[in-house]
Amino acid sequence: MKYKNPGQNLPNRFLLFCNALLLCGLFFFPGCKPATGTNLKKHSINFIAMGTYITMSAYGDQAGKALELSEEKIKELEDLWSVSYEKSEIYRVNNSRGETTQISTETEELLEFALAMAEKTEGTFEPTIYPVVDAWGFTSHQYRIPGKEELAGLLKNTGYKKVCLSDGNIHLSDGVKLDLGAVAKGYAGDMVVDLLKQQGITSALLDIGGNIQLIGKKPDGGKWRIGIRNPFDDGETIGIVEAEDCAVITSGGYERYFTGENGKKYHHIINPATGYPAESGLASVTIVAKKGRLADVLSTALFVMGLEQATGYWRQHQNFDMILITENGGIHITKSLSDRFSTNGGTSPAVIDTIDAQ
Ligand code: AMP
Ligand code: MG
Repeated sequence: MKYKNPGQNLPNRFLLFCNALLLCGLFFFPGCKPATGTNLKKHSINFIAMGTYITMSAYGDQAGKALELSEEKIKELEDLWSVSYEKSEIYRVNNSRGETTQISTETEELLEFALAMAEKTEGTFEPTIYPVVDAWGFTSHQYRIPGKEELAGLLKNTGYKKVCLSDGNIHLSDGVKLDLGAVAKGYAGDMVVDLLKQQGITSALLDIGGNIQLIGKKPDGGKWRIGIRNPFDDGETIGIVEAEDCAVITSGGYERYFTGENGKKYHHIINPATGYPAESGLASVTIVAKKGRLADVLSTALFVMGLEQATGYWRQHQNFDMILITENGGIHITKSLSDRFSTNGGTSPAVIDTIDAQ
């Protein structure tokens, strides 16, 4: 079987972190160097954690130290939330065989958020999807196509209602396992944004495996320019979003997939209702939101929902913006974001549909 997994040379433990792998759905454009005349010094840091490459740039004298603290924080969170590191809390919880387990406040808060979002998205974001993701080989990289009966059996062990959280303790029914790959990076990004702000940083750009999180504006006072990947053309962008102080996060079937003997592509975003990779007619979903945690969850959930249900979800909530790209090349974008989005050549405005509140 052929497969695409940009993180395959990373150390195993990192690779398996919540199955969260390289997204690279987003780019940011040079424009973020300090303009001449601004004297804020740029500091940058690159490292591998949470199964992905992380690059962070922040401006100001205190930025170097603040970025070092950020790297420590992300590695601490990885040690708590990795699905494969045997000392992590999530590993312990996943191997608790029906026993109640004590967890830290940080993990409890992440799980409270994940369970609330599973409810709001009607289980299209499903934090207990681990057994199914694992059966497809997305944790071990031993890709395979599970049979219908196998999937039906595994689906009996999924469902966020089977998770019970109370007073620092968690109880999972035996066989139920957590996969926080669709939320942990966004959540960790928010924690780093808070840390950097506490350290006095007013301008920064974090790229956590393609999840972009921004503090303030560029040091020259302009908005950041974030490239949105073209899901049909590896390495190309389809357009640019101008943004400040928010998260811009994309999920797409092109990010991680394998090709079966039958020539069909199977990607890593699972429809929890069927156990199969979601075939919703969407090629990618980009969410722009104040918080990374919301953008991360919704990019995955709305990908599973498809255009119609995702549009309904947005109209009901409206606390985020989105760009939905369909398999047939249509671009659907919420109205307030459309003023800040420009296609980089080629795309005819005719294929761009603006979604409004109606
Ligand atoms: P993302 O790249 O943020 O869309 O997250 C995808 C990752 O989340 C996958 O690699 C799986 O580990 C996990 N996952 C896949 N499908 C779902 C789903 N429907 N709900 C929650 N997590 C999922
Ligand atoms: Mg996600």
